[in-house]
Parts: sequence; C-alpha cells; structure tokens
Amino acid sequence: MIKVAVTGAAGRMGGRIITLVSEAEGLEVAGAVEMTGHARLGDDAGYLAGCGNLGIKITDSLEQALVGADVLIDFTWPEVTLANAATCARLGKAVVVGTTGLNLEQREALSRVAESVPVVFAPNMSVGVNVCFKLLKDMARTLGEGFDVEIVELHHNKKKDSPSGTAVRMGEIVAEALERDYNQVANYHREGMCGERTREEIGMQTVRGGDIVGEHTVYFIGMGERIELTHRAMSRDMFARGAVRAAGWLGGKQAGLYDMQDVLGLK
Ligand code: NAD
Repeated sequence: MIKVAVTGAAGRMGGRIITLVSEAEGLEVAGAVEMTGHARLGDDAGYLAGCGNLGIKITDSLEQALVGADVLIDFTWPEVTLANAATCARLGKAVVVGTTGLNLEQREALSRVAESVPVVFAPNMSVGVNVCFKLLKDMARTLGEGFDVEIVELHHNKKKDSPSGTAVRMGEIVAEALERDYNQVANYHREGMCGERTREEIGMQTVRGGDIVGEHTVYFIGMGERIELTHRAMSRDMFARGAVRAAGWLGGKQAGLYDMQDVLGLK
C-alpha cells in the first residue's frame, strides 16, 4: 500500500486528488495539508473532497502529514511547492509536483531536491496529452519538411494566458523533432498583408469562449492530405488521475527527476 499525503487539500486539484487516491487500488490517503489560517483546517479531508470521511484531518503541518506517508502530491503555488519539496527531501519522501508557473530558479531548486528523493514534475499530468506529446514527436519526424504545422487551442473565457502551456510544449516538441528553434519559428499572429506562410513556421492560434476545459489540435498539412491530432479535455480529473498514477509509479524508485513520459514508459 502506497501512502499519499496531499497539499492544497482544499484546492480544486487537491480535492479531486484526495478522492481519486481514496478510490485507487494500492493507494491510501495518509495526510492532507492546507495553509496556516485556512478555514477548513481540522475538517476531514475526505468529507471536504466529497468522498466521505477518511479519518484524515486537514492540518497545516506538512511534517505531521508526512509521518505515515511515502509520497506527497503537491498542486499548490510555486513558492509553496519549493518549500514542501525541500521538506520532502529532508524527510526522505517522494514527491509528485503538478504546480505550474515555476521559474527557472525554482525548477533548478526542484532538480536539487531530486538529487536526494524521487520527484515527478509535469506541468501537464494528463495521460492523453502525454501520449499526444510522444505521437507528435514521431509524426513530425516521419512527416518531415513536406507538411506545414499549425496548432490551434481552445479554452474557456476565464483563461488568462495564451497560448496555453500545453500548446507551447506541443510546438516545442514539433520544432525539436524538425531541428528548428521554437522561439524563432512560432508565429502567433497573422493579420493584413503579412505575406505567404514560410515553410518553417509553426502557426499558434487560440480560441477563447464559454466553459471549454481545453482542446488542442495539431495540424500537419501536406499537398493533397492533412493529419489532425486532437486532444479534448472533458474535466480537470484527467490531471488528477495522472498525478495519482505518478504517485503509484514512484513507489520504490531511485532519487531523480522524472516526468509523465517516464511514468507512462514513453521514453
Ligand atoms: P487552487 O488555488 O484551487 O488550489 C491551491 C491550494 O493550495 C489552495 O487551496 C491553497 O490554500 C493551497 N495552499 C496554499 N499554500 C499552501 C501551503 N503552504 N500548504 C498547503 N496548501 C497550501 O489551485 P488549483 O486549480 O488546484 O491548481 C493548483 C496548481 O496546480 C496550479 O499551479 C495549477 O496551474 C496547477 N495545475 C497543474 C496541472 C497539471 O497537470 N500539472 C493541472 C491543473 C492545475
């Protein structure tokens, strides 16, 4: 049985992760953490998550939550994640990090944590998206220069950043496979007499509206044929499921920095 502590227990992701861990075979919720002063401290983590009482009270002490745990799943905020990862390193606990927006310095600090404990870090934990990443690399390599690549992503009208981090990662993967520099070839904007499309460019388009959870399509457009690889997210659960899978995979792993491609055996 792998025992899992969850930080951000009252957060959107934390709640779903607690529920999915409680339902997963071979995994068990061992601790739940929220920030000091949070209104839900002392509540039962399962009750708050909507999966029934688990007998685990939400605490603001990560050390306490980690006492009976093998692995921490952390979906919080960058500076919180870094402090939590350092605590895991000190206590010899594995950690799954889903928090996004880590800057270079914070990613380097996480790499140092991974020198002493196993860490899975992936800004997109969806199994389907990670399979798409792998397929894209193979498709770009095989299709080569004869196909124009365009990426279109759709998200809800509350999303603040464009294009999505996932769309950018897709562009980077295609660019790497074609030996191009993504920053040089990404084209985010076409308007007016902007000239013909160049062979190298990767068009990046965004659509925003309503409650779309997230859709990404990569078009490989050739002469007389077109391939479209689309991923559609139906709910945020796909991220939580990936994180839970990563926690199960980490059991018994050596110290090191892993990503979802490692977890899914796609490397
Ligand atoms: P959220 O704001 O709903 O939840 C974050 C929670 O962390 C909050 O409840 C907050 O109180 C808690 N928190 C803050 N400080 C804490 C501390 N010191 N100890 C314990 N808990 C603390 O946000 P969310 O939507 O759940 O997203 C969290 C993070 O996960 C974001 O960075 C988001 O971008 C990322 N995310 C990643 C993926 C992925 O696949 N990797 C998917 C979805 C979201």
